[in-house]
Amino acid sequence: MATKTEFRISDICRIIDEAFPLATQDSWDNSGLLVGNADEPVTGILIAVDIDAAALDEAISKKCNLIVAHHPIMFRGLKRLTGSNAEQRLVERAIRNGISLFAAHTCADKSCRGTSARLAQMLGLTDTRVLAPDDDSLFKLTVYVPNDYADRVKDALFDAGAGHTGNYSHCCFESTGTGSFRALDGARPFVGEIGSTHHEAEMRIDTIVPRYKIRNAISALCAAHPYEEPAYDIYPIANTSDSLGYGIVGNLPKPLSPTDFLSALRTTFNCKSIRYSEYSGTIQRVAICTGSGSEFIGKAIQSGAQAYVTADIKYHQFADCTNTLMITDIGHYESEELTKKLFMEILTEKICNFVPCFLSETQNNPVKYF
Ligand SMILES: [Zn+2]
Repeated sequence: MATKTEFRISDICRIIDEAFPLATQDSWDNSGLLVGNADEPVTGILIAVDIDAAALDEAISKKCNLIVAHHPIMFRGLKRLTGSNAEQRLVERAIRNGISLFAAHTCADKSCRGTSARLAQMLGLTDTRVLAPDDDSLFKLTVYVPNDYADRVKDALFDAGAGHTGNYSHCCFESTGTGSFRALDGARPFVGEIGSTHHEAEMRIDTIVPRYKIRNAISALCAAHPYEEPAYDIYPIANTSDSLGYGIVGNLPKPLSPTDFLSALRTTFNCKSIRYSEYSGTIQRVAICTGSGSEFIGKAIQSGAQAYVTADIKYHQFADCTNTLMITDIGHYESEELTKKLFMEILTEKICNFVPCFLSETQNNPVKYF
């Protein structure tokens, strides 16, 4: 097999999309290729938390024509490029210097292999589960197929990502029955005659598929199904996802005092300062949400966690949690600096040494501590 030595921007986008599907990003997010031509060969990749002037300078000096970052730019949409604000100047400069910009934001946050999961791993949490599972991400897919073609259609669906739950794959329910149809003029029926009703022994296959894989699953189903018009139904279900959502909750290897827990956080995440709410008990069950996680405080309490590691917490939220939950605000940047290594691992696994990849060294936390 030939070894691939040239990668295009589109290849890098695809590699990250496979790890953190862009289709899972929140509707307000702007993850994906933001600036650049997907067909350009990649000369080098700079990995950063933010797409900012420092990252751009560094990319230019390191001869990288792609920046892969966690936080996107252009959230609100750009209507003109006149250099009238920092965002416009950044985009203009990236274009002038031939630098493509790619971001993987909430798709990385919500992945069970993503930012919060990595933070949990760094703290040594075990028995982890998603803290705030997506509740509209699962669909039931039912397909009717002639008995002899059932295995072929099932394999195609499973290869396309259907039928996965927890640590189980290839999940479905099968039942048999009789399908009937009448082919009209112009049809090319696989079985039966034009103008007469046909009955066929068929299997009904029920399986589940996440929202972001529906399109692939339907394409695979239609390609594998022998009928001109395969019959299938897709409908939303109220089950929550076990692998997609914000945050992680799990258990420390042993209980820690609040002070020891804070020390562990400070060392692990290189924090200059940690804001926290008072808590008098010991801490073993810990909830985590990287970045701004204040909206999941209630989920952290419900999960039985004694501590919640996140950022961007407001004054009254600390007060409300006193002696109920030890909120630890370790800082937004501190909680997400790990994304650089996460992206690096994903990329180097696929592109080996064929494209130079650098972790940004010049980019700093925009929040300063006095
Ligand atoms: Zn963030």
